[in-house]
Amino acid sequence: MSNSSKTLSPPHIALLPSSGMGHLTPFLRLASSLLNQNYQLTFITTYPTVSHSETQLISKFLSTYPQVTSKQFHLLPFDPSIAKSNDPFFLQFEAIRRSASLLIPLLTSSVPPLSALVTDITLCSAFLPITSDLHLPNFILFTSSAKMLCLLAYFPSLVEVSEEVHIPGLSKKIPKSWIPSILLDFTTLFATQFFENGKMMKESNGILVNTFESFEPESLAGALSEGKVVNGLPPIIPIGPLVPCEFERGSSPLSWLDDQPDSSVVYVSFGSRTAMSKEQISELGIGLVRSGCRFVWVVKNKKVDKEEEEGLEEVLGVEFIEKVKEKGLALKTWVDQGEVLSHKSVGGFVSHCGWNSVSEAAWNGVPMLAWPQGGDQKINAEVVRKSGLGIWNESWGWGGEVVVKGEEIGEKIKELMGSEGLRLQAGKVREEARKAVGVGGSSEAGFFRLRKFLEPSE
Ligand code: UDP
Ligand code: UDP
Repeated sequence: MSNSSKTLSPPHIALLPSSGMGHLTPFLRLASSLLNQNYQLTFITTYPTVSHSETQLISKFLSTYPQVTSKQFHLLPFDPSIAKSNDPFFLQFEAIRRSASLLIPLLTSSVPPLSALVTDITLCSAFLPITSDLHLPNFILFTSSAKMLCLLAYFPSLVEVSEEVHIPGLSKKIPKSWIPSILLDFTTLFATQFFENGKMMKESNGILVNTFESFEPESLAGALSEGKVVNGLPPIIPIGPLVPCEFERGSSPLSWLDDQPDSSVVYVSFGSRTAMSKEQISELGIGLVRSGCRFVWVVKNKKVDKEEEEGLEEVLGVEFIEKVKEKGLALKTWVDQGEVLSHKSVGGFVSHCGWNSVSEAAWNGVPMLAWPQGGDQKINAEVVRKSGLGIWNESWGWGGEVVVKGEEIGEKIKELMGSEGLRLQAGKVREEARKAVGVGGSSEAGFFRLRKFLEPSE
């Protein structure tokens, strides 16, 4: 029997992430959510990926969802020495951006024809002109906080950064110290991309943001949606929190966690791409011991996992590992963070405040001690503080700016793990996060808007 009625086939969306787990993960979670809503999907990957973790996650995703069409996007050769950056992830953004025209045949040959492309924010200024020529709707996925989106939208109108940036619609000014240094020098690769994307994103059909109304009410309802930050923004559509999925399941220290008392363990991790200095790692170890708390600590001293050469013992020392083994678990591998944060024995999270980590902590109601290391993380830490999800000691600065002493770290961890008020407030954030993805929540409303756009007659 042939199915001739066009109206019966669901919209077909292609997804184009950039690089790094912080971008890939929310894209795959979005994909999973769209599949649950009966969309047809094409997933575009650029090979080789920068990190092993990306390759592994893509392959787990594709084997879980054989109905997804996987397309490989082959990039033009790119000489990284011409760009003012030594960050492998930003260089990969640039390589993808410079290959934009090669995506055209891939988009036009899709069967059934595409209804829209969802592009990562870091790529949008290079791909919007292409989808516009093809008359293909283009939505952006913004993988950071709505507060960070305010800065991105406002950035092109900023002539220079004085001591504070006043973004219209936000009650509190953004201190210069919260803006990453790569953005303060307008000539860096990252600042150039940021500027171009901030200007061009107005041309998209909508910006999907991995956040929820009650978590960032001022940025969403107050600043972005009312056009206060800048005029002419497309619809800003909160669809978060994008939640951890089954296909992400992997190694996690669950059996160890199972044996610990409820809410007794502090989980310490600085995401997928933050290297910490040996000196700071050593102070953090001292801090964990001084806190007297049980802990799971993911140690990382290289930005890209492919470059990790030293084992845990070389980094921490055999003596330290022996000393803490009753109370703590230090690891130098990828752990399934979504699962760790959902474990009942985990009662606190020392985090760099990458936005995915923040949203996973919110989803699970785990109180955070924010220790931003770079990028958007101070802006995100402010969201954590303002929502009551966690505490942030601003005097610790950016990662590498100062060496924070173990004694101070220990005291803050005690504060994090001992505060009943913080636990209650984090529990409220969890409830709000669950409401957001429930019936009538802001995520459901966001996905409804997307569907309405793609199927106006439905
Ligand atoms: N992550 C993980 N295990 C690890 C390290 C990171 O599952 O050992 C995940 C984490 O849960 C999050 C993502 O990788 O989903 C990192 O993104 P985030 O925005 O928090 O920070 P980034 O790595 O981009 O700095
Ligand atoms: N970002 C953006 N526009 C750009 C590049 C980045 O808005 O042109 C956002 C993006 O959401 C990213 C955040 O800025 O997550 C901070 O970038 P960061 O330096 O932390 O890099 P990441 O590890 O997130 O790629």
